[in-house]
Amino acid sequence: MSFYLPALPQATKPGLRPELGALIGRAEALYEDLDLKVVKGWKELAPGRKAIGHMPIYVPRELIHASGMLPVGIMGGGDRLEIVRGDAYFQSYICHIPRSTIELALSHRLDALDGMLFPSICDVIRNLSGMWRMLFPERYVRYMDVPQNYDPSTGGRFWRQELSELRHDLTDLGGALITDDALRSSIAAYNEHRRAIRELYEARRREPWLYPASEMYLVLRAGNLLPVEWHTEMLRVYTQLAPLEEQRREQDQSRIVLVGMFCEQPPLGLLTTLERAGCSVVNDDWMLGLRWLTGNVPLEGDPIQNLANAFLTQSVSTASKYEPHGHRGKWLVESVRRNRAEGVVFCAASFCDPALLDQPMLISALDAAGIPHTQFKYSEDSGQFAVIREQAGTFSDSIRLWSEA
Ligand code: SF4
Repeated sequence: MSFYLPALPQATKPGLRPELGALIGRAEALYEDLDLKVVKGWKELAPGRKAIGHMPIYVPRELIHASGMLPVGIMGGGDRLEIVRGDAYFQSYICHIPRSTIELALSHRLDALDGMLFPSICDVIRNLSGMWRMLFPERYVRYMDVPQNYDPSTGGRFWRQELSELRHDLTDLGGALITDDALRSSIAAYNEHRRAIRELYEARRREPWLYPASEMYLVLRAGNLLPVEWHTEMLRVYTQLAPLEEQRREQDQSRIVLVGMFCEQPPLGLLTTLERAGCSVVNDDWMLGLRWLTGNVPLEGDPIQNLANAFLTQSVSTASKYEPHGHRGKWLVESVRRNRAEGVVFCAASFCDPALLDQPMLISALDAAGIPHTQFKYSEDSGQFAVIREQAGTFSDSIRLWSEA
């Protein structure tokens, strides 16, 4: 299958049937690939190929794809990178992801990237984009501001202009001329990709015990590095294979929605800890950039306009996005109901302003709807989960006790 290309050391996850073990082994190898070996390998498959990195959350990957380049999602160094120089660039009271991202770049692990996009997530990412310009003046850098106004004649016009500028930049950078037809065919590839993700989420919503959180996270995260067509294939194969594991049975766990992991990533061990503590994840905000647009982008008409409209009318709700209709907790209450969740676990990166400033409003909405919740913080390099396990375990137990009562 194409998602095994280009070759990384192939490890098989023990305890699973061979096909699923190989797929999860591949996803794990991609998770560990901080040097972007797979991106280098992809570039070597044909002369002149280029890759564009981007920080978490949304950038219009369709445009990069249509230029013949590879969009590459960068999510920091996690707990697999020693910070040597990155700390010197940031004060201590901000989150961890900018330090590890700078460390990745200064240690030449991101050299496979021919440019970098910094979507408008928060002030930290805005500052990081400025640092990037100073540290790497020879590389293409663009800060992608997104609409803060959802009126098509204002925010829509602005976003259309941003998309058009990026379209020209990518061609100037040596990508192919992005024709309308090329962009339509990229939009079609991403529509298919988003459909495959929705199908996986729907399957997990029905039978979460078949799709363990740590496994599903790895499979989804592989989409940061793989070409979209390969990742669509991986998602579909995983959705089919996971239910074949006979040892996966429904357990006495609480169905929870996880909120707050949209930017700095949790250590993988934290997800395993949550599951062992009795929490069965039925919805989350992982890799939102891959599923930012919630429906299909139309293929007829002006493709740039269609992408701009999709941002305004069918994008996810999250802390780092302006909410045009106020009531910031509405989407969360709806998510709990739609996914038949029994509670919400707020699990955000320490010092993550967007996530932590949103929490009081989300909590008010949950309280008003009578939905239980708990919260804790992590850092991408956290190593100890004992306290989280106790807290999540108590939360899950209390949900089960209340439901029995
Ligand atoms: S973790 Fe939060 S504060 Fe840090 S860069 Fe991401 S969105 Fe910004």
